Amino acid sequence: MKTILNKFLNKFLNKIAILAIAVYIVVTLVASDRIAHSQTSSDVEQVENCLVNRLLHEKCTTAPKPQAQPQIPPIQVPSSTPTRILTNKERFIAALMNLFPKIPPEDSYEYILLRAYGGPLINLEPTIKLPKKVVFKNNQETQQFQATLTMGKVAGTRNCYLQKSAADALNKARAQTRFRLKSGYGKSDCTRDFATTARFWKKYANSKTLDLVKKGKETRILGTVAPPGTSQHLWGLAIDLRVTNKKQINALNQNGWYRSVKYDVPHWSYIGYPPEKLLKLGFQKKVIGGITYWLTPL
Ligand SMILES: [Zn+2]
Repeated sequence: MKTILNKFLNKFLNKIAILAIAVYIVVTLVASDRIAHSQTSSDVEQVENCLVNRLLHEKCTTAPKPQAQPQIPPIQVPSSTPTRILTNKERFIAALMNLFPKIPPEDSYEYILLRAYGGPLINLEPTIKLPKKVVFKNNQETQQFQATLTMGKVAGTRNCYLQKSAADALNKARAQTRFRLKSGYGKSDCTRDFATTARFWKKYANSKTLDLVKKGKETRILGTVAPPGTSQHLWGLAIDLRVTNKKQINALNQNGWYRSVKYDVPHWSYIGYPPEKLLKLGFQKKVIGGITYWLTPL
């Protein structure tokens, strides 16, 4: 009697295992199809996050888990993972969706800003704080965000501060090779306040320029100066440096720092991953005028 019962139980549990695997595969495939079409809905969000985690850590940490049934074998991620069918842009968007569950429309000002300045926004380090919006409207919004940051000092400077993890990484690079701030040892090379970014903008551009930027008719200016409230320097994740040789560039790249804004040669952004991971996340490595930039694929 016991054996018959055992056999019956085994058959029943095997069926559950097969059903669980089938459901998982269907969910994954459906999700990958949706990602390919850049749709955003909460039921696929978890799978997308999982996908990005897999891109970053070679392992899926948020995969749906089977109910606790010791007899059910652990579910393996299907060998034909959907990551191969994603374009660079889709990979980057999937990574960005950790921060922005809804990606703004392609012709919007926000999207233009994400394209130009969005590189650091795919950082997943728990100690790094990222803005929930790409434009701070005023000083108050900027201060509210900056008040949440844990800052660290860049070694050898008087008052150059960055988010601590970014500063630590930069100091590591500095320990490997020397490089200097662009304009000396002042804070204007590092984390800035809203008023400073607005002042810099007025130096190079005006409200007409801003209208053209918002319409997508002027993009070159974004490599010279950021519109008020949009600079990576407000996030504590950018620094302006004098970098001239390969050794300096390698040390910075290996510690997560990149030239991520096209045409802005002295500007370095903390993205936090080594170069090979950036390529996996869809970044485009472009050489312009002899300078290598790591640009978003948006
Ligand atoms: Zn800069």
